[in-house]
Amino acid sequence: MTATILCMPFVCVYAPFEALFLPFTSHRKIACSGIRRGSFLRKIVSAIDHSRRGLVLNILVVNAGSSSLKYQLVNIANNKVLAKGLCERVGSEQSLHKHGIDENEFVYKLPLPDHTAAMRVVLDILSTGPNAVIKDMNDIAAVGHRIVHGGEFFKESALIDDDVISKIDDLAELAPLHNKAALAGINACRALMPDTPMVAVFDTSFFQTLPQYSYMYPIPYEYYEKYGIRKYGFHGTSHRYLCERAAAILGEDLNEIRLITCHLGNGCSITAVDHGRPIDTTMGFTPLDGLMMGTRSGSIDPAIVTFLMDHEGYTPEEMNTILNKESGLLGISGISNDLRSVREASDAGDPRAILAYEMYSTRVKKYIGQCLALMSGTDAIVLSAGVGENCDKMRRMIFAGWQPLGIILDPEKNKQRGFERIISSDKSKVPIIVIPTDEEYMIARDTYNIVHNRSQIVPASHYGTK
Ligand code: AMP
Repeated sequence: MTATILCMPFVCVYAPFEALFLPFTSHRKIACSGIRRGSFLRKIVSAIDHSRRGLVLNILVVNAGSSSLKYQLVNIANNKVLAKGLCERVGSEQSLHKHGIDENEFVYKLPLPDHTAAMRVVLDILSTGPNAVIKDMNDIAAVGHRIVHGGEFFKESALIDDDVISKIDDLAELAPLHNKAALAGINACRALMPDTPMVAVFDTSFFQTLPQYSYMYPIPYEYYEKYGIRKYGFHGTSHRYLCERAAAILGEDLNEIRLITCHLGNGCSITAVDHGRPIDTTMGFTPLDGLMMGTRSGSIDPAIVTFLMDHEGYTPEEMNTILNKESGLLGISGISNDLRSVREASDAGDPRAILAYEMYSTRVKKYIGQCLALMSGTDAIVLSAGVGENCDKMRRMIFAGWQPLGIILDPEKNKQRGFERIISSDKSKVPIIVIPTDEEYMIARDTYNIVHNRSQIVPASHYGTK
């Protein structure tokens, strides 16, 4: 009964999703034949089907930071976000809980001494009171956790058990803040919903197939053996989504094409994906490498680090802070890590804001160029995340002067915002595609698939219309 009620709202999914249940549906196909898609009768047939299988399609996606806990409850059947929110300043006196979507966001001030307290508040608001979207914990099929570092252990997402937890813990040395925070999120869920399966989705796993010549650094080999110093790559969940969507938009098989995917947000990375397999990416041993970012320097001459430590007496920790939190757009402009503020200042003629724009766009251009060289071309260039999706000025600067390479931006299409679209000119040999990324969807999908022991039952190609 519960399952029937639960499934009723979820049955208005369009045809491709039904194909995902084909292993179950030979009887259903017969039952449904002749029933118009979307008709009331079809919905009832579908609801009965779902309830028979007892499928609960809500996945809770959790992204725990050192003092934050972001969450989304996603209905995997139609990629609908049922609820989302963020607990901030967890562990401090000023902790906050923001819950809601867009203009319906509520902010609650309340004590959140640790991640378990934050998780308790989240589960409470999801299941009780006026904002409730589920009846109880049984309405959550599984929890998907975003984990930053999977090292060389995890080539794909994994069902969380004691062994997986211990490996995530072992890897904390490589990503101290992130992996420890993720473990706090996992432990909180384990304490509060011990019977709900959980899946770890790693930022790094997409890049585990990088060729060795690409992931090794030219420093003595022993440091790779001793400390695992190599390129790991990050933002993998986003790049994976962008690849699948781009292939769907192009109407091509991902395994037959070359793509350059650019995740340009507060953190930035570019990946060359050759026939479905990443062959290089700009982030490296840590997410500090590669492009200039909001507050991160990206790649610099490593001798600058030792020079500054020498001359300014900085400790490794202070040096880390400078390169991770005080550099990038913020460090150069002296204004903000937010490109919108830098844009205002640069439009008003501020020389350092103009310089920040030029440095940022030049670096993106350079790395796209590297990817082009590595793959001897590309079938599309994909832009995503805050800057890639929204900033027409930055896109204009990135693609300026590439007509001889057959890469031509359409100035009018470039001005549009907010949805999947091709922004290159019809004359461009290489399509430039803007795709709003959806990491939460990928985490929810991996989680659902792993828990149900199926692979790729809900391809991202079905959902790209956010
Ligand atoms: P993300 O990390 O993907 O949330 O991206 C955040 C960054 O996107 C912000 O810090 C801004 O720099 C940038 N951004 C978002 N919207 C715009 C916009 N309309 N114009 C320029 N930059 C934007």
